[in-house]
Amino acid sequence: MDRKIFEEIKKKALDDHIPIIMDDTLEYLDSILLNSNKDRILEIGTAVGYSSICFSRYLSDNGQIDTIERDEERAKEAIENIKSMKLDNKINVFVGDAVEILPTLDNKYDVIFIDAAKGKYPFFLSEALRMSKVGTLIIADNILYKGYVMSDYNKHKQRTAVRNLREYIKEALDNPKLKTEILEIGDGLSISKVLE
Ligand code: SAH
Ligand code: MG
Repeated sequence: MDRKIFEEIKKKALDDHIPIIMDDTLEYLDSILLNSNKDRILEIGTAVGYSSICFSRYLSDNGQIDTIERDEERAKEAIENIKSMKLDNKINVFVGDAVEILPTLDNKYDVIFIDAAKGKYPFFLSEALRMSKVGTLIIADNILYKGYVMSDYNKHKQRTAVRNLREYIKEALDNPKLKTEILEIGDGLSISKVLE
């Protein structure tokens, strides 16, 4: 991986206030997934491609990442960034709303990373379950949303997001097909392993 271009992509994303994956979250995912030779990874919420580029190190030689972004400007920048890292043969960017694109996909993924509209997390989980197999990891970022999810006072603006994040956590913990851990890393990370 070209370290210099990678650091430039990260710096520009931070300068532009793009909510890229936090360093401690990435460090944790690296600790469980680095060199794990995954064949297929699905990401919901590409932004400018930073996390996809990081996750490319979890792939097998012929592994592929499918990633979805609805903001056309960001998707365009992601495609450029991915090209500049010479990863365009491994990372496919789908431009559009994941709510519309997910139902058109029909693959089984080894890792599914949910990092988009919080109000849609329960729907993303149901789609992730449909495209899972035994051993798939379903990972959701920002699951504790600055602590709002654990507190009883929420401003109106966050109310819908918080309700849906709580619904996601409840489903992930209650579903007998999943073994779920909620970790206080970064902005909160949910990791579910598909058991059957
Ligand atoms: N995973 C990225 C950061 C993603 S930020 C990284 O760590 O580098 C969340 C992104 O999800 C934003 O760019 C936003 O435009 C996108 N998004 C939000 N809702 C979406 C939806 N319904 N479908 C597709 N993309 C969505
Ligand atoms: Mg995030």
